[in-house]
Amino acid sequence: MAEDLYERYQTAAAAHRSHHGTCTACTDTERCPAGQRLYSSFARLQTAYLNRQREQRR
Ligand SMILES: [Zn+2]
Repeated sequence: MAEDLYERYQTAAAAHRSHHGTCTACTDTERCPAGQRLYSSFARLQTAYLNRQREQRR
């Protein structure tokens, strides 16, 4: 479901943003293990979402 994917993508983006905003170990160039985990799930969902968008636009 596209909406479900979008919601998960937005949730992951928000989780990563809020972690990045509060975590002192995360910087622009380095991430703590938790930040890295949040970032990679956000990046994976973003890629999946953008691929879905591209397919639908044909
Ligand atoms: Zn962190």
